[in-house]
Amino acid sequence: MRSSFSFQDEETGWNNPKKTKKQKELLSYRGKVLNQRMAYPFDYKITLAKRRIQAAIDQYGEEDCYVSFSGGKDSTILSHLVLSMGYKLEHVFSNTRLEYPECIKFSKEWCKKNGIKLNLVLPDILPHEVWKKHGYPMFSKEIAELLGRMWLGYKCHPKKIKKVKGFLKRLGYNGDPSDSKKVKNFLKRKGLKISSKCCYLLKKKPMKEWQKRSGKKVAIMGVRAEESQIRRTVWVRKGCIYETKDQVVVHPIIFFTEKDIFEYAKKYDIRFADIYYEPHNLKRNGCFCCGFGCHMTEENNFIKLKQMNPQLWASIMNHWGFSKICEKCNVKIE
Ligand code: SF4
Repeated sequence: MRSSFSFQDEETGWNNPKKTKKQKELLSYRGKVLNQRMAYPFDYKITLAKRRIQAAIDQYGEEDCYVSFSGGKDSTILSHLVLSMGYKLEHVFSNTRLEYPECIKFSKEWCKKNGIKLNLVLPDILPHEVWKKHGYPMFSKEIAELLGRMWLGYKCHPKKIKKVKGFLKRLGYNGDPSDSKKVKNFLKRKGLKISSKCCYLLKKKPMKEWQKRSGKKVAIMGVRAEESQIRRTVWVRKGCIYETKDQVVVHPIIFFTEKDIFEYAKKYDIRFADIYYEPHNLKRNGCFCCGFGCHMTEENNFIKLKQMNPQLWASIMNHWGFSKICEKCNVKIE
């Protein structure tokens, strides 16, 4: 069903390589609108967020809606917004078993304090079983997916080869990246078992199953456009409320910046989970030992984890095999 907060691919011709001039102009206009809204005054962004929450509840019914809650700062602000409107929607925490203990503790306390039902959704497979069977999450979702396919001997589209070739070089492969047989042999010989399956098996699948069991299909999420290009693109294409094959997705705080999040917390005297404060000062929550993005920063997930919890770090490195795969991928772990 179409709402005033959603947008359709047909309007922008998103999947059409031969877009009309009008469609191209529309896409560029949507990008500009997004920038404008992100620059709106803080109080007005709160109004916009509440309008979107209300629209989702009006359109789909309170019973069908839930808050996707990770115990992170963005979902905490989202939760506060929903509560401030008088709704006690069920909160759902996707516990991959790789979440910071501080965020789990915070989520339980936050929900208890506010009288909200919290569901902790667990996958039916353990993280190290996923990595052993399918491969480790390294570099980025897209690159891990390509390397995972190459491990299995699949051919890649030339456009994808362009993307993955620098990574193959980094891993020590100097042959032709489009020779799928050679690439497969190289990856197997070096034990470079990399894959993007982790997110699906530890997060998406258990959440899909929970949605099916609970009958709730409207996920209200604390996603912000400022976080990544992918999130910007999703808004440009689909807007703040959109339907997928099996759920409805709502992004009320999509226009919030990091500064707005902290301003909101200050205004309403909200203390986030401990990971955001001294001595940890983390910028984001999420899985504590994900290899995505770790090749790009000096202060990566593994290095931070060692500072926060040396015992957990040692266990991940030695028992779960991250030290070996990181060494092969030339990623620092300490
Ligand atoms: S964020 Fe990383 S570690 Fe966590 S489920 Fe996704 S791929 Fe796995």
